Amino acid sequence: MTEATQTPPPVKPSSTNDHGPGHGNGSEVDHREQQLFQSLDRDGVGSIRRSEILSVIKRMGLQLEDARLQETLIALHRYVEDEPITYADFSNIVRPNILLVERVLQGHTVIPDFEDFCGDIGQIYTETRKNQTGKVADYIPQLGRVAPDQYGVALCTIDGQRYSVGDTKVDFSIQSTTKPINYCLALEEHGEDLVHKHVGREPSGRGFNDLTLDSHGRPHNPMINAGAIMCCSLVRPKLDLADRFDFVMDSWAALAGGQRPRFNNSVYLSERGTADRNFALGYFMRENKAFPEGTNLVETLEFYFQCCSIEMNAEIMSVVAATLANGGVCPTTGKQIFSLRTVQNCLSLMYSCGMYDFSGEFAFSIGLPAKSGVAGALMIVVPNVMGICTWAPRLDKHGNSVRGVEFCKRLVNRFNFHNYDNLTGLSQKKDPRRSQLRAKSDEVMSFIWAVSKGDITALQQYLARGADINEADYDGRAPLHLAAAEGHERVVEFLLNQGAELNPRDRWNGTPLEDAYRGNHKSVISLLEKRGAVR
Ligand code: GLU
Repeated sequence: MTEATQTPPPVKPSSTNDHGPGHGNGSEVDHREQQLFQSLDRDGVGSIRRSEILSVIKRMGLQLEDARLQETLIALHRYVEDEPITYADFSNIVRPNILLVERVLQGHTVIPDFEDFCGDIGQIYTETRKNQTGKVADYIPQLGRVAPDQYGVALCTIDGQRYSVGDTKVDFSIQSTTKPINYCLALEEHGEDLVHKHVGREPSGRGFNDLTLDSHGRPHNPMINAGAIMCCSLVRPKLDLADRFDFVMDSWAALAGGQRPRFNNSVYLSERGTADRNFALGYFMRENKAFPEGTNLVETLEFYFQCCSIEMNAEIMSVVAATLANGGVCPTTGKQIFSLRTVQNCLSLMYSCGMYDFSGEFAFSIGLPAKSGVAGALMIVVPNVMGICTWAPRLDKHGNSVRGVEFCKRLVNRFNFHNYDNLTGLSQKKDPRRSQLRAKSDEVMSFIWAVSKGDITALQQYLARGADINEADYDGRAPLHLAAAEGHERVVEFLLNQGAELNPRDRWNGTPLEDAYRGNHKSVISLLEKRGAVR
């Protein structure tokens, strides 16, 4: 897991060093900053108010607790409500989080018209709420007692835009939605080859707790009970049970951007007390020598019941789904939790096996990876766009949430989110996304811009998403050139530690050290020279 480096909050600037837009050094980067300021200073009076910045942030669906905006928000709150914020103040306030601020102010998030999109989601929520068919699971009293008509929908985009409607703060036990995450944890720990020696990746074509193994004597896949029990045996097997459980809880919290899940002990006790079938599956697999050597069967089953009894709400689970949608990088913290490969594998199996005996039909008609659980949760991933969690406890005959499935149907009827909607440009469906091509070219420019501004948090996110640390602009200027030219010692150090080339040459044959000398940035010069840089 990558740790985000925190940039200290900027000091509130004194008004004596004020200068208006256009009085900077005239570089491209300042021009971009000026444009942002001017977009807020609509009347052209040369100052803006705190509330104007905050209202754009909220309108775009970003939360004021968002870790990626903390430096800016702290700095902003040093100004009282109506105090004028000049261009110089603005620069200092936004600089530490400039990339995200820019994306938000320019409406360049993955869902640019977020208010409109949320209006549609709210409408789908209202329509699906009317559906009162289905029954709550009652194989244990703790689930049977849940008020059946509760319903919540929460979503989080890969840019961390959040929306929720209904009962999104009510806890539910995660049940089978634990399965994809435990599979990811097993993959991260042991790699694909070893994990799939013990569990297949084929839909079973049988019930989720059927007493059956594939032709190699393995459970069919990690999304059914036998496969999930197998994955549990692979998660930190050398630790004692308490530490294994802590590890799973910590992993969920990291996936959810730091929001901690809870644990429902009575659900756990009931699960354990009514687990004949799961015990039978365990012994059946042991008889077939399916487990890794040294597996303690009873402990593994206990661990599985505990994982099913973790509790969280739809808001938390939507961020977890968004982390999967974002290739393993949590959108609200920028931390890489799972590798891209792990997430690809997981989404592939959610796609083919995530919805019990309805999985084939769901893949066919909805075309999105999803995983449901018997407490009524549905975790839905729209890759590269967002994660969604619906929670409504009434289930259909397959064990999927009735409203959750209907929500998905309506979602893909309205938006072109089905996996194969991109086959034709002729789709009549709405596309709420920002153009991917445009987004890619902006990404390269923005990476370079983040360097010149010293926005390390954004840099980490770009690198986590696979940006090339040496990618140069059309003048052959690499990120290290810019960081050195601007005198950002911490960025220079960060780039070098991340493996940036030490002496890239721009089209005038200049190196970063040359830039540092030109700007007379002594600390950068000595840092570069210590590492062996040349002019
Ligand atoms: N705790 C349940 C079981 O193992 C999981 C139910 C589910 O969500 O599929 O039987």
